[in-house]
This record gives sequence, C-alpha cells and structure tokens, in this order.
Amino acid sequence: MTALTGLTIAEAARGLAAKSFSARELAEAHLDAIAAARDLNAFICETPDVALDRADAADARRAAGGALGPLDGIPIAVKDLFCTEGVPTTAGSHILNGFVPPYESTVTANLRQAGAVMLGKANLDEFAMGSANITSHYGPVKNPWGPRDGRDLVPGGSSGGSAAAVSARLALGATGTDTGGSIRQPASFCGIVGLKPTYGRCSRYGIIAFASSLDQAGPMTRTVGDAALMLAAMAGHDARDSTSAPLAVPDFAAALDGSLRGLKIGIPKEYRIDGMAAEIGALWDKGMAWLEAAGAEVKAVSLPHTRYALATYYIIAPAEASSNLARYDGVRYGLRVDGATLDEMYMNTRGQGFGTEVRRRVLIGTYVLSAGYYDAYYLKAQKVRALIAADFREAFREVDVILTPTAPSDAFAIGERMDDPVTMYLNDVFTVPTSLAGLPGISVPAGLSARGLPLGLQLIGRPFDELTVLKAARAIEDAAGFPAGPPTP
Ligand code: GLN
Repeated sequence: MTALTGLTIAEAARGLAAKSFSARELAEAHLDAIAAARDLNAFICETPDVALDRADAADARRAAGGALGPLDGIPIAVKDLFCTEGVPTTAGSHILNGFVPPYESTVTANLRQAGAVMLGKANLDEFAMGSANITSHYGPVKNPWGPRDGRDLVPGGSSGGSAAAVSARLALGATGTDTGGSIRQPASFCGIVGLKPTYGRCSRYGIIAFASSLDQAGPMTRTVGDAALMLAAMAGHDARDSTSAPLAVPDFAAALDGSLRGLKIGIPKEYRIDGMAAEIGALWDKGMAWLEAAGAEVKAVSLPHTRYALATYYIIAPAEASSNLARYDGVRYGLRVDGATLDEMYMNTRGQGFGTEVRRRVLIGTYVLSAGYYDAYYLKAQKVRALIAADFREAFREVDVILTPTAPSDAFAIGERMDDPVTMYLNDVFTVPTSLAGLPGISVPAGLSARGLPLGLQLIGRPFDELTVLKAARAIEDAAGFPAGPPTP
C-alpha cells in the first residue's frame, strides 16, 4: 500500500474522483503505516475508528453522487493542540490528563466539513513550547530522516509529530500551529512544506492557547500545492474568534502557477547572523538565483530591529502563556493532585502537571507582568514589537516577498541543546520576527545539508498575501528538486 501513502493530496483527490481507490482504502493504508511506525512516536492518540467512519461516510457521499468537499476522503493528522469533540486532547501536557473536549475547534470542524478524515492526534511540545518536540509529556518524536552517527534526531517543534507524520508518509497532510516558528522550523527539519498564515486568517477557537496574540494554525504538507489546498479548507472568518479576519478566502491553489516576472524579492541583510552555518548561507544564495531565474528581481532590504526580536518574543510569549495557563488549576478538568487545603491542591496540581519548560515560562511571564517590572519588560517588549512590525511595513513598500533561511541549522540529536534554554531559543531567530509582525511565512524544502538532512527556505509576505508567498514557494519547489521523502520511509 506504499503507493497510496506516497500520493500528494492533489493526486489522492484525483484518484478518489476516478474511483481508482476508495477513501476507506486510503485511510487503511495510512493507519497501517502509522501502526508500522510507532517507533517515531508521532501520534499521542491514534483514532482508527473515527478515521474509518469518516472514510466510509466519504465513500457513501461519493457513491450517492452528492456534494463533495474539497478534501473529501483525504486522511490527515491533527496536532494535539486542537480540541476534537469526543477525542482526548492533551496539548502534550500531563495537566490535561483525561480531558475529552465537548466541542470541536473551528479549524478541525472546517477540515471535517471539507471532507478530511482524521487519523489521530499528533505529538507536540508541551503547550507548543519548544523547538525540538522534547518537552512533550508523551515523549520525544523521532525525525524520520534520522538517525545520524547512531543518534536519533529531533523533528523540530513544537509541531514535531505533525511534521514527522507527513514526512514519513503516515498522513497526506497535518495541521500545525505556529506561535514563533512551530510550523516552519519542524517543516524545515523534516523536509516538508509548512505555512503559517497571517494572524487572523484561521480561527483560534478551540485551539489550546499558548500566546494568543501570536498563535496561528496552518497546514503542513509535502507540496506547496497541497498547502494551498489545505489552507483554503482551514481558513475563514469565525465569529467565535474576535481576531479572525472577516475576509473571503481566495482559491489559493488555482492561482499558484505563472511567472514571477515583475515580483520583487527582498533579502534582509540583518538575517546573515554570526555563526550561521556556511551551508545555510549557500542555500539562501541558491534560493535567490532560483527566484531570479523564475523572473523575479532580488534586492536588499533592511529590517534593523531584527536583533531584538528573540528577546521581545521571549518576553511577550511567556507573559501571555502565564496568563493563559492560569486556568489549569485542577478544579474543572484535567489533572487534580489533592492537598490539605485549596492552595495546596493548586500547587500540587500545577507542580506535578506542568513540565520544566512550561514552569519556566510561567515564572518568566509572571515576573515580566508583575508590578514594578511591567514597564521595564512587558511594555518595552510591546514597543519593540511595534518597531519590528514597522520594519516589515517599510520593507514591503519596496518588495513583494522576503526570502530568508527558515532555521539556522539542520536537525540536531535528541538530547542535544537541552541544558541551555537560550541555545534552544536561537532556533527561532528567523521565524520569530514574522510572528511578532503577524505576517504569513512559509518554509519550503530547498536542499540537503552536508549530513544529508533537509534544509528549508522561508518566504514572508504582506498581511493576507499568502498567495504571493505560495507562488514564490512553488518556484523554489520547482527549482530545488527536493527528494520526495526520507531515504528510509
Ligand atoms: N520555539 C518557539 C517557542 O518555544 C515557538 C513555539 C511555537 O511556535 N509554538 O516558543
């Protein structure tokens, strides 16, 4: 059944339409692949019954000749940060132990409405905090491109299970969420496409909150065309999220092809950071040449406040997280660890329910929001955030899209970089500014490192201009000729 799991979403949709195979066969092929690859730990919860029910329903709709959704019968993985009605949702945390949401997130409801078939809930960093999928209560995920030198590699994070599942052909696509890079960086590490839409393009309703002014859902797929298809199904205005944009969703996939003639590509000089691996710089140069060959014009731009972006993000994101995570107190749902008093119950529950990284962020967030430090840290960070966004606005007067590397390295080994959180935070150096500015960004697989591991390039666009980002990404995809998957799927 390898043939069915190796299809793109577009190919699978055509195969279903031609009745070359059924949605049930497609779902079964993926469920078998998931069962054979449990060693990757890509899923926290497999949902074969849900998958087969929805696949059968898709087959019945098709047989009846009724209306079909754009993803009818397409099997996908769902990051376990999206609430799914009747299916356990953990956020990768012990504190949500036993939580079964009584409602469905808007994004997963939209996907279901489009006919997509959920295979299971993908592993992630606890509450989406991390860059390596090593903070999950359910254990680390292995990158399907590993091991190297006898060591298993991280898939990136926080959407590490989603990225590993799509890369290893366990799902045709997956949902991810990105607060500071969590779709784009794992996509880069696993050799797949990951798109963080503009803040507001997808509803946040029913996505377990990390940092609400940054969180955004997006698709993770094996091709740019599939990302366009999946985004169209996920996106749209939702009255239940006041930050969701009341804008029509374009038919991204229909407008992907065509020349890049006249398109201006910006290269921010501040992204050539000290200590960046030479091979990352070389790949970036190649990306420029590919876009030029496709008809675009490449020019230098300046984003002068870039160097403050990481520090700004690591104040704002923990501040919002400390506030969002205050709700996990052992009272209404999830874990409860009893104590002699109410306060003791709170302390026991939160002390045992949250892992080290989450506790660190709650502490930092509480500190930067506390009286006496608020102005010095949180307020200052908000001001710098405005300057970072203004840098992008200025640059987008001159150019239509910005090209950068996605991450400063290829995938590292599980266990590496764990002793120093700041080294781990450096993974986000190229992705965080886009998030702070609320802009769309995509990572597209562009080449292999000297160790034979995937490397991605990032394209950043104007607000709600995912289409131009996708078009430029398609040009890189065409030129890069990136291998279709890991050597040993
Ligand atoms: N790696 C970043 C962090 O740890 C980004 C996470 C994310 O985008 N969810 O916060």
